Amino acid sequence: MKTDLKGLDASQTEAWAAQSGLEPYRGRQIRHWLMNRLVRSFDEMTNIPKTLRDQLKASVHLNPLTLVKTENSRDTTRKYLFRLTDGHFIESVLIPERDHFTLCISSQAGCAMGCRFCATGHQGLQRNLKASEIIEQAIWIKRDMAQPERLTNVVLMGMGEPLANYEAVLAAVKNLISEDGLNLSHRRVTLSTSGLVPQMERLGRDVTINLAVSLNAADDKTRSFLMPVNQTYPLNLLMDACRRFPLPNRRMLTFEYILISGINDRDRDAYNLMALIGGMRAKINLIPFNPFPGSELSAPSMDRVFRFQNRLVENHFTTMVRKSKGQDISAACGQLSGTFDAHHQQPVLDASS
Ligand code: SAH
Ligand code: SF4
Repeated sequence: MKTDLKGLDASQTEAWAAQSGLEPYRGRQIRHWLMNRLVRSFDEMTNIPKTLRDQLKASVHLNPLTLVKTENSRDTTRKYLFRLTDGHFIESVLIPERDHFTLCISSQAGCAMGCRFCATGHQGLQRNLKASEIIEQAIWIKRDMAQPERLTNVVLMGMGEPLANYEAVLAAVKNLISEDGLNLSHRRVTLSTSGLVPQMERLGRDVTINLAVSLNAADDKTRSFLMPVNQTYPLNLLMDACRRFPLPNRRMLTFEYILISGINDRDRDAYNLMALIGGMRAKINLIPFNPFPGSELSAPSMDRVFRFQNRLVENHFTTMVRKSKGQDISAACGQLSGTFDAHHQQPVLDASS
């Protein structure tokens, strides 16, 4: 089997070089070409001798993703559809912000968590992504950008539950933030989870990045109705894990709360939510539900969304309503189906910075 270099860290790359009979500096050189210069072929590695390049072509797998299609929204949000080598599809979304870009990447093809409000969840899990397939979304898209230096933020909020694919996601995150990787600031990488408690604790020990928790309900009955994971890790366990999650200076947890008409959008839901997270260093992102074919749920009116937000604001909670982007191309994170059939829903992009 060919070696998948983009899934390795620096020391693993050197170990690979040693095993292949190369000097350790060759490992570092090749890693620099891949992670820093973003090349897609050995022929672009001009300081590697031609004979060695030919030898490496036969033993190393460089490009785990094939671009199938891109779609541009009027607001310049750009959605990428990639094919994996075994034929599955994943999507990534590049979101323009005022002075930078945020990239939303996938961690699985599909998702097994079965959340009632989520297009990816309705599709089920095809398979976990490898570390190389996760990081490659960022490498591929950065290379495609006119101003690659403006890609500063990455959110793991695309297809899949990142903490259900722990080892590969951790390896990819380390390559996103390591100096000899993509060198993003750990303050600008956010992982979003539906609440896998044991892996949240592991993550807190293993790496320092931002955590977003998809809460979506403030009582167990509603949350279990929306998110089956709540039957395994109910709110008391989830909130304990959130309180214990290590936060460096002045960092906040993010709670994501999709507002769904008649389900979790009443005043009393807002009060329950405040009781649940009161006293925590946290902000709340309110996301009006994006309908999609086959979902029996609907979004509240914007009046109701702002009423819910006002309940929180008047009690001094930090909260914002996610603004709509990519409406014309179904590009909302959590809304990605990997089929590229336009769903023509009204996505609201959810990309923390
Ligand atoms: N599996 C992870 C990350 C991917 S989902 C998680 O659940 O957190 C990313 C975000 O999209 C989650 O916050 C989820 O709540 C949100 N989302 C999913 N379906 C949505 C929908 N129909 N409308 C609005 N947001 C949605
Ligand atoms: Fe999976 Fe997240 Fe969608 Fe739930 S919201 S089904 S965990 S991708």
